[in-house]
Amino acid sequence: MPETQTLRALIPRLRAICGDDGVITDSAQRRTYESDGLAYHASVPGVVVLPTSTEQVADVVRLCSENGIPFVPRGAGTGLSAGALPHTSGVLIVTSRMRRIREIDIENECAVVEPGVANLEVTRAAAPQGYYYAPDPSSQQVCSVGGNIAENSGGAHCLKYGFTVNHVLGLEIVTPSGEVVRLGGKAAQPPGYDLLGAFIGSEGTLGIATEITVRLMRAPQQVTTVLAAFESMDAGGSAVSDIIAGGVLPAAVEMMDALSIEAAEAAVACEYPPGAGAVLIVELDGPAADVDAQFEAVTELCQRNGAFEIRTASDAAERARIWKGRKSAFAAVGRISPAYIVQDGVVPRTALGEVLHRIADLSARSGIRVANVFHAGDGNLHPLVLFDDSEPGAGERAEEVSGAILDLCIEHGGSITGEHGVGVDKVCTMPRMFGPADLETMDRFRGAFDPGGIANPEKLLPTPRLCGERPGVKKGEHPLVTEGVAELF
Ligand SMILES: Cc1cc2nc3c(=O)[nH]c(=O)nc-3n(C[C@H](O)[C@H](O)[C@H](O)COP(=O)(O)OP(=O)(O)OC[C@H]3O[C@@H](n4cnc5c(N)ncnc54)[C@H](O)[C@@H]3O)c2cc1C
Repeated sequence: MPETQTLRALIPRLRAICGDDGVITDSAQRRTYESDGLAYHASVPGVVVLPTSTEQVADVVRLCSENGIPFVPRGAGTGLSAGALPHTSGVLIVTSRMRRIREIDIENECAVVEPGVANLEVTRAAAPQGYYYAPDPSSQQVCSVGGNIAENSGGAHCLKYGFTVNHVLGLEIVTPSGEVVRLGGKAAQPPGYDLLGAFIGSEGTLGIATEITVRLMRAPQQVTTVLAAFESMDAGGSAVSDIIAGGVLPAAVEMMDALSIEAAEAAVACEYPPGAGAVLIVELDGPAADVDAQFEAVTELCQRNGAFEIRTASDAAERARIWKGRKSAFAAVGRISPAYIVQDGVVPRTALGEVLHRIADLSARSGIRVANVFHAGDGNLHPLVLFDDSEPGAGERAEEVSGAILDLCIEHGGSITGEHGVGVDKVCTMPRMFGPADLETMDRFRGAFDPGGIANPEKLLPTPRLCGERPGVKKGEHPLVTEGVAELF
């Protein structure tokens, strides 16, 4: 039976599991799930289910597994790599009804949450007791903790505190065969392979996280935010190097270039110092005495590198004013360009200066403007490639520049994604970074969890590489490749 017919036949059983209001078959309603934050990849899901419990997720996945039907997990749909792109003849499993914070356990400094809980809700729930959840993607008001797990999301403060993987103690997952399994927990690391670490960042290809135990951190005694304006990116970059080399570990170090400052001014009137070729935002946190000492060091190093204006914020309202421009930067470029691509790559911090120069060359040669906003402390670039989509060929040229930026990242020892993941968007870029043996090994790992290849297929790894291939051990070259009819990408 073709996949769509099999799927249609399963709908009564899906309704029996999730209830009538937990299954969406109406085509207009299904269309609302057609993409994530990367809207140029879109496809309408075969059916959408909205489970409310682990048992329902497991029953749906088991049904998919028994019938060879693909499924795609989805949290809040803010992903920027089309990781939650639906399968047209598959089941989209949306966690938006699994939003309970099950426990705030201050004695063990952790929280137990369902996957659909928004990132910021964890901090809101822990704040009255003086705690917070550290990973802070800019989308934290809406993105789900389940999505954060799948993408190993980062944020401005990951320089000091690390990515999601550093803050997850345990998971309950539903494997692609529908089994409910626990990885880790409140106790310290169990022996054996780090399957918890492997699941984090697996982009929905190893199963669905249905319960998450995250580490809570004590809110810092003092937070001081510094905004320093420089005439050039080189001067700002050199200040960053000196700050880190000087032994200061800020909670966040963010940088914006002139074009992104212009966009932020146009969008939110952030009133950054006029004439700045670069602004640096440095946030310091910790015990008050340490923060004060670090503040002295940071201001001195910024001045030594030519900062012509330095502003300081020590309460929440002043901090929000400093962060306003940076936090609006992605959307703000819409004010100065009809269309743009948000790229995400990472390089060793020491290569930042060279890579930014090469990006400027690429931009000058192609006539495509690139605005740079980035986590300077950990080398995570977010170049915004601007183009006019009404101009013939401009989109293609922008894609070329965007792709060439990833090549630069690889050439300088970096990676094709810093935090947004591979999804569908970068699946063809993976072979630029990994050789066939690396990809094969990852594929075999995936196949151990998902031999049928039903969990978020066609994402993360360029497999199945050809029609009909399944993840797992490859037995020689595909016959179509041998015949020269098709090629692997
Ligand atoms: C304005 C904006 C700013 C952003 N800023 C940042 C940032 O600073 N840092 C950053 O890292 N990212 C950022 N992102 C990207 C995005 O918010 C993150 O990747 C986020 O973690 C996605 O969460 P989500 O709930 O929206 O997941 P979705 O988009 O719904 O899904 C993302 C992936 O996770 C999988 N998935 C979802 N839930 C589960 C689950 N329970 N179990 C297994 N797999 C699952 C999906 O299949 C998909 O592959 C930003 C996005 C936007 C739109």
